[in-house]
Formats: sequence, C-alpha cells, structure tokens
Amino acid sequence: MGENTSMRAFYDQGARVAVQTTQPLDRVLTYRAPEGGCWQGAFVEVPLGPRKVMGVVWGPGERGFDASRLRAVIRVLEVPPMRAEMAEFLTRVGDYTLTPMNHMLRLATRAPGLTNPPSMRKVYRMGHGTPGRLTDARARVLDVLDEHGGAGGPAFTLGELAELSGVSASVVKGLVKSGVVAEEESPRDLPFPHLDHTAPGKALSPDQARAAEVLRTGIESGEYGATLLRGVTGSGKTEAYLEAVAACLAKGRQALVLLPEIALTASFIARLADRFGARPAEWHSGVTMTERRRVWRMVAEGGAQVVVGARSALFLPFRDIGLIVVDEEHDSSYKQDDGVLYSARDMAVLRGSINAAQVVLASATPSLETWANAEAGKYQRVDLTTRFGQSTLPEMRAIDMRNEDLPGNRWISPTLATAVRGRIEAGEQALFFLNRRGYAPVTICRACGHQIGCDHCDARMVEHRFLKRLVCHQCGETKPVPDTCPSCEAEDRLAPVGPGVERLAEEVAEVFPEARVAVLSSDLFASARALKAQIELIASGGADIIIGTQIVAKGHNFPRLTLVGVIDADLGLQGSDLRAAERTFQLIRQVAGRAGRGDIAGLALLQTFQPEHPVIRAILSGDEEGFWKAEAGERRAAGVPPYGRLAGIVISSPDLDAAMGLGTTLARDATALDRIGAQVFGPAPAPIARVRGRHRVRLLVKAPKTAPLQTALRDWLARTPLKGDIRLSVDIDPQSFY
Ligand code: ADP
Ligand code: ZN
Repeated sequence: MGENTSMRAFYDQGARVAVQTTQPLDRVLTYRAPEGGCWQGAFVEVPLGPRKVMGVVWGPGERGFDASRLRAVIRVLEVPPMRAEMAEFLTRVGDYTLTPMNHMLRLATRAPGLTNPPSMRKVYRMGHGTPGRLTDARARVLDVLDEHGGAGGPAFTLGELAELSGVSASVVKGLVKSGVVAEEESPRDLPFPHLDHTAPGKALSPDQARAAEVLRTGIESGEYGATLLRGVTGSGKTEAYLEAVAACLAKGRQALVLLPEIALTASFIARLADRFGARPAEWHSGVTMTERRRVWRMVAEGGAQVVVGARSALFLPFRDIGLIVVDEEHDSSYKQDDGVLYSARDMAVLRGSINAAQVVLASATPSLETWANAEAGKYQRVDLTTRFGQSTLPEMRAIDMRNEDLPGNRWISPTLATAVRGRIEAGEQALFFLNRRGYAPVTICRACGHQIGCDHCDARMVEHRFLKRLVCHQCGETKPVPDTCPSCEAEDRLAPVGPGVERLAEEVAEVFPEARVAVLSSDLFASARALKAQIELIASGGADIIIGTQIVAKGHNFPRLTLVGVIDADLGLQGSDLRAAERTFQLIRQVAGRAGRGDIAGLALLQTFQPEHPVIRAILSGDEEGFWKAEAGERRAAGVPPYGRLAGIVISSPDLDAAMGLGTTLARDATALDRIGAQVFGPAPAPIARVRGRHRVRLLVKAPKTAPLQTALRDWLARTPLKGDIRLSVDIDPQSFY
C-alpha cells in the first residue's frame, strides 16, 4: 500500500489484537496468527465469543502464550493497515478521554463494508441525454444528482439514488433508458479527481498575504505548528488558509478542513472545487455509506488529497496529513457530547503534533482556551484586521428595554420595529435573532399553574406549532398539545409563555404584514437540502425579514442583510455555566457580523434589560482584547479552564437513591484525587435531573492545571465497581454542565 512494510513487525505465532466492540473490554486479546502470519497494524477478523469482529494487530502475543490453546485470527482484511501514528493517536485520545481502545477503534473505522473485498458494481450518475418533459419523481432524481455536483459529483448505487430521491428503482432505470442518467460498471472505490494546487488563487490583500505567508512557512517546515487565524467574518480567513491548503498539496501531503455545521459544507466544497479544479472528499453523517467507504479507503491510500468534513473526519486513516484547519474553532459543536467525549479542536492539535502537521484554528471570536494558548506563545497568532473589500463591521447599539413601551407577550420593541421598517423600505434585509427553537419554551395552565413537562426527563416540553406537538429538547419525545390540563383538568386554559422563533414569526407577520419572512431553525427542515434551499432563497433576496436561531451565526453570506436585531441579548447571561459570558459574547458578535457584508454599512441592535452588564458593554464597544483579558483574569482567579482543569462525572440510574449513593461513596473516598491537589464537588442532582427515565447525579472534579488528572481519576473510579443498572461517564474538559 505504498508503504515500506519491512518497517513493520511480522507475527507468525501469536499476536495481540485490539478488537472493535461495543462491550466494555479495556484490553487487547492474544490470538494465534493466521496461516501465513500477519503484519503489525493489519486489520483482521477475529472470533469474540460467538461472534466475528474486526480488529487491528496491536503487537506480539503476551509472553508465555500457548499458541495451540489460542483461537486463531480468521483472516487478514484487504484494507490498508493502520499506521503507527494512527495507533498512537487513538491510544492518546483514549488515555485523555478515559475511553477504552475498543470504542476508539469504532471511531476509527466508521465506514461500512470495510471487511468486504474490493469488487465491481453498477453505479449511476448524471448522463448526457436531454431530459425532455419530466415527471415529479424523475425531476427529484435529477435534483439529487445536481445537488451532489452533477456529472462531476460522486456516483450512487441504485439503492442510494432511489432512496435519496424518494423514488422506486424503476424510476431511475427509466431515466437510464432515456440516457439522462448514466449507468456504469465501476470498481467500488475510485480515487478522487486530482486537485490542481498550481491554479492561482485570488489576488490577496496585504493583510491576507501576510497571513498566508505565515501559514505557508509553517507548511514548508514540514513540522508541527499551530496558528490562531483570527479575523472578523468576511475578513478573508478562508481565502488565506486556502493558500496553506495549496502549499500542503504542493508538498504532496493531505489536508483536512473541519467545519462546524453540515449545512456549510456544500458551499465550501463548491468554493474549493472552484479553486482547485475538482471536488475534494466529503465526510459527515449526510454522506452515503458507499461514499464513506470510498473516502476511508482513498484517504488511506492517498487517493484523496483534501477532506472537508465534520469532527469525526479527524479519525480517518490519512496516509500523510500535513494540514488540519479547524474553521470556527470556538464552535461548541466540536465537542462530541455522546459516546467518546472528545473535543475535535483539541484533538486536531494532538493529531497535528503526532503527524508533524500544521494546525490552523480560524475564528472571528476564538475560544478563551485558544486565545490563552496564543498569549502564552504555544500557538502563533495572525490577525486579519479589516473586512475584505468595501464592507465594514456593523455599528452596535443597545436598546434599553426598561424604556420601551411593550405589552406582555410581545418582543419586538417600537425602536427595533422602526429601524427594521426603514431597512425594508430601502430594499434591504433585516434579521431577528432569537436562540430558541419552537413556538414557546413553556406551556402553563392558567388555572393551576402546572407546566407541561416530559414524562421521561426533568425538562419542560417546548411547543412546536409547525409540528403541532410538544417536544422534549432533551430526549426528543413528542406529544400532542392537550386540550385539558393534565394536572387540574381545566379545559382550554393552557397557554404558551415566552417566545420561540415560531412565535416571533407570528408577531413579525402582524407588525410587518407586507414583508416576506423566512424562518431559519434547524428543526424546521426535513433535510439538509431543504435548509440549503432556504439559505439560497434568502441570499438571493427572496425574503425581507429573516428569523433565526443560532444556525444563522454560522458563516452564511447574506449580502443584502444590513440590520440585525437581537431579541434577547440577556438570554445567554443567565446560565450558571462557566462559559456563559464567553458564549454570549461570541454568539452576538457572530450574529452581528452577518450585517453589512455588501457595500452598505450594517447595524446591530441589542434588546437588553441590563445595558450596563460588563459582557453587553464589551460587545457594544467591540473591545475584544479587553473582554478576553477580563474574562481570563476571572478564570485565573477561580482556577478554572484554561487555568485549571475540570472533569464532569455523571452517574445515571433508574433509581435515584442508587445514583446518589454511588456519588456519595465516590465523594467520600477521594484520596486518589487529594493526592494531586484536586477537589470534588457534589454529588448533586444534575441541572437536568432526569433524562429518558434515568436519574442523573453529577460530581465535578477541579484540579490544578499541571496535575495528572486522568491517572488520578482512573485510580479513584477503579476502587468502586459499578453495580446493576448504574452508568457512569467522565467528561474531561466539559463544555456544558447539564
Ligand atoms: P472569512 O473566511 O473570514 O469569513 P472569506 O475568505 O470567506 O472570509 O472572504 C469573504 C468574502 O470576500 C468571500 O466572498 C471571498 O470570496 C471574498 N474575498 C476574500 N478575499 C478575497 C480576495 N483576496 N479577492 C477577492 N475576493 C476575496
Ligand atoms: Zn424527555
């Protein structure tokens, strides 16, 4: 596979194999080598109990094994073997996050059919025939092909294409007959088209050129390095780091660009294709199974030069990765909050250091962690100080809600309404930002005060009129809105309290009856495709007013948008969360950055009841360094991240006493933590005290910055085995505290 296998150890007797299972199994097992032996790193199939599972040859068999008594490796798979750097990366991520290797391996092999041998199959792509008159079903097939890059995009199997288009296989076959869709025999996994790094980029501004030069020098060094690339939205960060991608390709190494949001990949991929003459590989949950397998293999074999994807792309088996870009590095979606609890931003830096790769962390509003690392000199820092071209950063002003005349159940102040009206009349767009999905966050009974909650969680149900149901944002449970109160049985007394985007949309329709309104909220769209269509509609001027949750903060470009109204600037300040101030600062600045990207100056208006709050003042004054310094000072004094370390422990059980009991035992017997100077807080019921019928109890461990936290946690937790239906999860560097 293009690699010198003579460097790898070879085993013909026994070998330790790390296996991929969901069972808790924190060790590697020794197997008898297969007929003909196996190399270090080979992917193999082994028996485990009654089943066959995939594994990786991890090392020589344990000493003193009796080969005749071992079960044998079933076969070596036709997959490029795991590289030593990958094995090291998995080991270190596992050690850092306290995750057993069998779970780490699952992350590293998230492609179906890896065990199947390469073969041929029929695939379907856009053909050259003229469509003529189309039925709806046929048009949908062509839409799907178009949306995936048309003739230049990936090919689909019959099943995939039919499913994505929501048509039967015979519809696709019909299109093949008329020549509109082409049917081809193709090897299962084809290399991606070559990307031309010599194609010239845009002429860079002096600022951009300086940034690109720093990044290029890093790539040239062939060594590890991390750089914070900071610049407001629209300052041309992407253009600057594309130069680094080009330099990386010129060195014959691979590049990975991580994006926080799947909805952003389509336009980013188009931009990259424009620059390098062909589409890169794409990796996220919306990519078909066949394509994922292709990406996985081609990344391993070098048949994919650039991958654009979500955080899990970090675990692809790159042959030689030279650059990892983490775009919008502050985004909280980089923290995986289910399964292996890792931060893709931090693990990108780890992977870069293991692979002698450059890491670029790009953001308009970096996380305090990254800002502090740059301050401390661990990362380089490059700033783009102006917006590219004409556009300027919007002016920011507060609307003091204490002085506004606004009836209850209304959220758009007269001042904001007047400003919006002016923009619409001038043919511009305005955005109302409210970070709350659904119609109303609370449904309350006017007769008895009962609030409708989820039956399985300790959370209130959120009304979604669009779905005509109440939804639990914790577990996803839904139920119809009842006519009578479930508590006092009074009829027709249930009333919504507080606004969500859907309710705001009603108010907007009343206040601006003439305006064309578009709502952007992740749950309102059945598919990424529908969301993309809405985004394109807005970008092309098909709406006067946009109502959006935080998805509007993420990098979309709306050239006609000149006014942003933040409905509730105080919303994020209420939480007890360590990062409440930082998040509010980032989110509001990001949203405000949506205004005025064209040649008209933008304005952001913040509705607030506390215009004197330090965070609101920092946002308004635009004094970012000042904000970070103040925030850093407070965190340093409190000994919390990034100046101290935290680990969250969540214990869950159907039985509250059992969960509390375990928490108390752990808190009482914490000598392993005392030894490193760490403190334990709790146990306490978690802020969301019940999820899916399980009670949740939290402990928080706080340790000095340089303490060996993981080792101490391991010792501490190993003393108290879990009994019955109790589960315990450890979240190192927790981002949220629910
Ligand atoms: P950011 O990543 O900081 O948000 P982008 O790189 O996306 O900024 O640039 C913002 C806009 O300006 C994009 O539409 C981009 O095509 C354009 N742009 C950026 N740099 C240049 C340049 N040097 N020449 C022409 N257009 C540019
Ligand atoms: Zn629930």
